[in-house]
Amino acid sequence: METRTSVHIETVSVHAGREPDAATAALSPPIHLSTTFAREADGGYPRGFSYTRAGNPNRHALETCLAALEGGAEAMVFSSGTAAAMTVLQALNPGDHVICTQDAYHGVLRLLREVMAPWQLGTSFVDASNPDEVRAAITPATRLIWVETPSNPLLKITDLAAIAAIAREAKVLTVCDNTFATPVLQKPFDFGMDFVMHSTTKYLGGHSDVLGGAIIARQKNALSERVRFLQASGGAVPSPFDCWLLLRGAATLPLRVRAQTANALAIARHLAAHQAVANVLYPGLESHRGHALARRQMQGFGAMLSFTLQGGEAAALHAAARVKLFTRATSLGGVESLIEHRASMEGPDTRTPRNLLRVSVGVEHADDLIADLDQALA
Ligand SMILES: *Cc1c(COP(=O)(O)O)cnc(C)c1O
Repeated sequence: METRTSVHIETVSVHAGREPDAATAALSPPIHLSTTFAREADGGYPRGFSYTRAGNPNRHALETCLAALEGGAEAMVFSSGTAAAMTVLQALNPGDHVICTQDAYHGVLRLLREVMAPWQLGTSFVDASNPDEVRAAITPATRLIWVETPSNPLLKITDLAAIAAIAREAKVLTVCDNTFATPVLQKPFDFGMDFVMHSTTKYLGGHSDVLGGAIIARQKNALSERVRFLQASGGAVPSPFDCWLLLRGAATLPLRVRAQTANALAIARHLAAHQAVANVLYPGLESHRGHALARRQMQGFGAMLSFTLQGGEAAALHAAARVKLFTRATSLGGVESLIEHRASMEGPDTRTPRNLLRVSVGVEHADDLIADLDQALA
């Protein structure tokens, strides 16, 4: 609990990283396009900015906001969630070993298999929703445990406190991909995780118009310093305008996520009673295997859900083809509701059931969303 601040997240989202501009008193922060910053006569940079790959006022404001939202010591933002993940993996050394949950975001799995394995980073893929599998996979070379909860697209729940305890005992660092839950619903640092990762493309941005990623560190340590070094040296940084959009999105994060979560619960309950539906994967349903854990660990169950259809893949594709209000599209976390046949998006090596549709619930009225799904499933 050491990282929890007494100020509420609604207030942090509006105020962290935002002050009227020192030069003009403008409330909306100016976008600093300059790639370079003037040096003082003594050669110094008293304001801390020298060249925009190393640092930029808009990026600094966003990092301040994200660190405050998660309750971490510092945040480092990147040009995409995948670039953020890549940078953490590159901060390790060849010969190191990573334990990764097997239903992590498919792009992270691809990085481990196709980019980092040839670079001699070893990986064990486990079901992290079973902490015993994580414990059993630890080797003397293990440096990092990577979990994602709720997971994509099966919405499995991983016990963050249990994973953190295993990691502490083994002197291994931990990362939680908190993209689905957002800090509004889940604070991984409160359970002892070391790093939080976000695809800010999703809920943080919230409007499907900006790509970004972030790594937030609970405390500064050797790995966070290496990530900071690689951010500037590798250069996978977001533009000043991207940072401005993300800071703007963050201000309404709690409002959006709460509205989306309420809609998702209504939709999940409705689908669970629908005769065309085989199974609804949503941690807010009592029938979900991770429900009790999610109740303890989260402040709400999120706005992502998946469901499988009785009629198999053909029925899933048919329903996805018939939606009118939902948009058939990948990605998630925006104000508009999306539906996706996940297996065909993930490609031939997917483990996702072929009769599964994944839904990102937006801020429209729940009744309208339910009516759309009903007519598509009829
Ligand atoms: C989208 C996503 C990512 C990858 O982020 P990009 O911004 O698309 O690179 C990683 N993890 C999760 C859970 C995601 O949804």
